[in-house]
Amino acid sequence: MTTGSPPWRTPWRYEAFASADQETVRLHNLALVLRQVYELGPRSRATIAAATGLNKGTVSRLVAELIDHGLLRETGMRPGAVGRPAQVLALDGAGLAGVGLGIDADSVAVAARDLAGRELGGARRAFDVGANSAEATLDVLIGMTRELFDAIDAAGAVVVGIGVSVPGLVDVGRGVVTTTPNLNATWRNLPLASWLRTALGEPAYPVQIENDANLSALAEYWEEPDAGARNVVHVSGFFGIGGAAIVDGRLMRGADGFSGEFGHMVLDVDGPRCGCGRAGCWEALAGLGAVLRRLYPDGLAPDGRVRNPEESIATIVDRARRGDEETLAVLADVGRWLGIGAANLVNIFNPDVLVFSGYFAELAPWLLDVSMSQLRDRVLAPALGGTRVRFSSLGAGAAVRGGAAVAIQELVSNPGRLIADGGKLNG
Ligand SMILES: [Zn+2]
Repeated sequence: MTTGSPPWRTPWRYEAFASADQETVRLHNLALVLRQVYELGPRSRATIAAATGLNKGTVSRLVAELIDHGLLRETGMRPGAVGRPAQVLALDGAGLAGVGLGIDADSVAVAARDLAGRELGGARRAFDVGANSAEATLDVLIGMTRELFDAIDAAGAVVVGIGVSVPGLVDVGRGVVTTTPNLNATWRNLPLASWLRTALGEPAYPVQIENDANLSALAEYWEEPDAGARNVVHVSGFFGIGGAAIVDGRLMRGADGFSGEFGHMVLDVDGPRCGCGRAGCWEALAGLGAVLRRLYPDGLAPDGRVRNPEESIATIVDRARRGDEETLAVLADVGRWLGIGAANLVNIFNPDVLVFSGYFAELAPWLLDVSMSQLRDRVLAPALGGTRVRFSSLGAGAAVRGGAAVAIQELVSNPGRLIADGGKLNG
């Protein structure tokens, strides 16, 4: 705040200290008020004052700032509790765009959403990321990003932040991709955030790199909010098994952003070898690779990577529909391991909702019963501790939309950034 002699030595310095402190409180309260509407839905100033403990005058001043900067809007009168009509506040943000960029083993994608979750644009392009350098991939991605920026501009919106989805371990704080088992060595220790910032001309808004499973979980939380659910465990089956936990409405990242590696939870110490080099991991027992190794080895490349996941899954689904006995037996076994791993997660997190996505959702008709019976047998709490289990309907592309969600959430946590900047964030 201040340097040199302590702030209480002279009245002038004391004042500077006090006003810096008031500014911190104001920024905190702006976020507090905005989050009320963002997380809990349209409501009046009086309701916000009652819920936050701020006085009504303070709430009115903060709301006026949020309206001025296009974050909130008034939606009309609603009779108040004591018969007086009250203006209801809702999210505005039609002019504010969160941008998601996505890198996958076989494609790159972009997406933009406004503050209220409306789609502002997006595209996906097939690209063999594994066979190209990171630089060649990022050149394609930057080209698509510029086209998306043009669409956002045409819609009269400004970019407020970027979230980037990467299938691998990410040091979120430094914006560095650490390892990517499903891409190639050019991605190892790649300072992706600073690379993108340079390519985009050092914009004023944040560029955040995240693991794809974390972002899929956020997209699920954002686009299909289960009523009242604040604790969501998300298990995604693609090449391996990824996952993420949302605890009290926030993504649990862990100390260095590596949490949620559910796929490497060890379920059978004498089990099959996993892609990570260890034995008996959940993904070695229930991942798509494990299914293909037993049912459709042609779907696997010599290095163990899944060649064409969509085609491989379609093949398995087709055989299961035709009632092929070997296929049904393997899927029953996979469902059993799926339920055993899920029971561990329910015992640890006691989530409101447990969501299976990716290939698990596509094979749900053959996995659901057997995995539910494992869950009922192995979860300690009666009636699964109130946890609801469901399969995702979001499909591919969830992670890139989660990237846009992350950019929006960062703004909601820190709306003062937009206000300080006069609403002009396009760098
Ligand atoms: Zn493993």
